[in-house]
Amino acid sequence: MSERVYIFDTTLRDGEQSPGCSMTVPEKLRMARKLVELGVDILEAGFPIASEGDFEAVDAVSREFPWASVAALARCCTLDVERAAKSLAHAKRPRIHTFIATSDIHLKYKLKKSRQQVLDEAVAAVELARRYVDDVEFSAEDGARTEPDYLEKVSRAVVAAGARTVNIPDTVGYSVPAEYAALIGRVVEALGDSAIVSVHCHDDLGLAVANSLAAVAAGARQIECTINGIGERAGNCSLEEIVMILKTRSDAYPYKTGIHAEHLYGASQLLSSVITFGPQPNKAIVGRNAFAHEAGIHQDGYLKEKSTYEIIDPRSVGVPEGRLVLGKHSGRHALHERAKELGFDLNKEQLDRLYHSFTAVADHRKKGLMDEEIVSLIKESQAQESQAAAMETAAR
Ligand code: MN
Repeated sequence: MSERVYIFDTTLRDGEQSPGCSMTVPEKLRMARKLVELGVDILEAGFPIASEGDFEAVDAVSREFPWASVAALARCCTLDVERAAKSLAHAKRPRIHTFIATSDIHLKYKLKKSRQQVLDEAVAAVELARRYVDDVEFSAEDGARTEPDYLEKVSRAVVAAGARTVNIPDTVGYSVPAEYAALIGRVVEALGDSAIVSVHCHDDLGLAVANSLAAVAAGARQIECTINGIGERAGNCSLEEIVMILKTRSDAYPYKTGIHAEHLYGASQLLSSVITFGPQPNKAIVGRNAFAHEAGIHQDGYLKEKSTYEIIDPRSVGVPEGRLVLGKHSGRHALHERAKELGFDLNKEQLDRLYHSFTAVADHRKKGLMDEEIVSLIKESQAQESQAAAMETAAR
């Protein structure tokens, strides 16, 4: 039996607060509808004390999707927690997510507080949040750089105060998989069944997904992530990547999520249309080239049997079809197939002629040829053919 891992989406909070990603309330609602359809377990809709817009977004998402588990972020202080509680007034399954930094570097330079002060404030905030809602999550900001004994002490204390989820973020994307897994494993062991341990990883070293995966293997059961991996600086753990790893490699990672993967591409596309940028073309799962095959040998193998070069059926994540890119590395086989798809059944001689004119164009291109260009090449070559035939007749 595979164990359930909860997907906590923070596209509308951590994602939204990064450059080029701000969203209006109606845009957040459109995104929230897609995230609900996608099947995320918890939807973090904003940081209500931060702005009026964030408060409104949490309130609007709570009203529009009353049965969704909606989370609102709050620092460990009375004002923040009360504001979060107010924004969640219409949610049937509200979660207050309260956080305070626990690493010595943050305590010394940012908070200018002692470990005892931070511990007391964390406990007080969780207790206050529990007066409003049953579902409270505590985050030890910069957890990955926090001294492990102290982190364990804080984790036990907030659970005793009523937190159900303890999140240990790698706020600055500094950790590496084995190290992060060891830290998470320690907290999981300390808390036992009394709380779910969560992870929240940033991608500063490109390890957000790898660290999250290692943490799940070490006992974490909630992953905080975003569509297209957007978020502070280099972004967060990418939702589509972590979900598809668990799905594709269930042999190695026997965990399941509630995500309906066929909506992944749609969610990525919708987000791209709402914010100012889309995923890079070579982004796993949702990038434009994620299922594109251009090299002739790859295209030939793919056309004979897709599994030779494709580990995920593109349709299973909502991508219409695996796309063969017709560029200078492509061969006759792929060109023949594309011509067929475009409605032209070519004989060997015609294909040879088309291939010749195709490579002449493709050789000077960095990008593959569009379908319309292929069609015009076929038509040109047909015109040449009939002209040649006409001349031959005239000569007789
Ligand atoms: Mn973050």
